[in-house]
Amino acid sequence: MSAQSRTLYLDYHATTPVDSRVLEEMLPYFMQAWGNAASKDHRYGAAAKTIVEESREEIAGLIGARTAEIVFTSGATESNNLALVGVARANAPERGHIITSAIEHPAVLDPLIELGAEGLEVTVLPVDSVGRVAPEDVANAIRPDTLLVSVMAANNEVGTLEPLDEIGDITRSAGVLLHTDATQALGYVDIDVRELGVDLLSGSAHKLYGPKGAGFLFVSGRDPRVKLSPLLRGGDHEAGRRSGTLNVPGIVGLAAAMRWAATLRDSECSRLRELTEYMFSQFESEVGDVRRNGDAGDRLPNNLNVGFRGVRAKSLVVSLPDLAFSTGSACSTAKAEPSHVLKALGLSDEEVRESVRFGLGRSTTRDDVDYAVNRIAQVVARIRSAKRGVA
Ligand SMILES: *Cc1c(COP(=O)(O)O)cnc(C)c1O
Repeated sequence: MSAQSRTLYLDYHATTPVDSRVLEEMLPYFMQAWGNAASKDHRYGAAAKTIVEESREEIAGLIGARTAEIVFTSGATESNNLALVGVARANAPERGHIITSAIEHPAVLDPLIELGAEGLEVTVLPVDSVGRVAPEDVANAIRPDTLLVSVMAANNEVGTLEPLDEIGDITRSAGVLLHTDATQALGYVDIDVRELGVDLLSGSAHKLYGPKGAGFLFVSGRDPRVKLSPLLRGGDHEAGRRSGTLNVPGIVGLAAAMRWAATLRDSECSRLRELTEYMFSQFESEVGDVRRNGDAGDRLPNNLNVGFRGVRAKSLVVSLPDLAFSTGSACSTAKAEPSHVLKALGLSDEEVRESVRFGLGRSTTRDDVDYAVNRIAQVVARIRSAKRGVA
């Protein structure tokens, strides 16, 4: 832990710590009210069922949904898989076409590749240089057999917000379902599923100062009622949409995390936007020759994705063990491939290799930003002068 405590965490898009107030609410459900929410015959089960349903109601209220429209999952990866594979299987083969964007999380793109291998047709829309999908591209891609459009609410690498309300207008009038992966947006953007016109929405607790392994999928129950075939079959939990004993403490933590995120949203959004703007201006003045990836305005307030010219992101990360930040996307580093998001923005291979992502969070201070900028300025200067020496 001592080595870790000297590492400044700037990777809040990858995960967040559990807020102590969230943990406090979860604790009774480990050792006191630890019943199985599906055990209907006694008080242990009833107590667990009660808190699960209260949490469901609270989560639904926070996104403008009805209680029965919330399905608990193990996280956004499962929610995305359930949304895409579940809807595709329930509606095949009459409607066999899905539209998505080039900058989706692998938890959307990979299930679509699998569905593609099963015969479903997938259209992958391009994005502009800041990572935005053009609503007219969505409109043009819709065909008579189009089942679903899946476009994320906010991108996890460059933070760009997608024009979901405009896309929602298009899908609604075309009679096509809309799914959004709102995992990154949830803490920062006010989300109302009816206003947005989304039929399915994925979220995860651990990106919101809640526990890992808890998430949800909103599934519209009306106008239209979404047909969904389950991925996990067994005890018919969650009205048959997702079998498996419910993670009661995780669900309590998810509800608490979403409540706190909503309470803190306005103040944290403006504080973090100022901090990321400050960080970028310090990079410009103290480091120099820095390029920003993504939209400077319409973005997650805690995101800063930049490239320092002539400096490989990998070299930076290796030289700065006292800073925790990521090259491209932590979610695809297991694959060690250049970021598909940055490539979709039109960056050259070299620009992709230079890009680093900073995600600021609730505990990040201005002093932290100053520390990070100073350390990066030192290392960038050293790398650049070494390169000049060689050349
Ligand atoms: C983190 C993330 C996921 C995966 O969520 P898990 O809960 O970790 O499975 C999916 N989509 C986006 C945009 C993410 O940032």
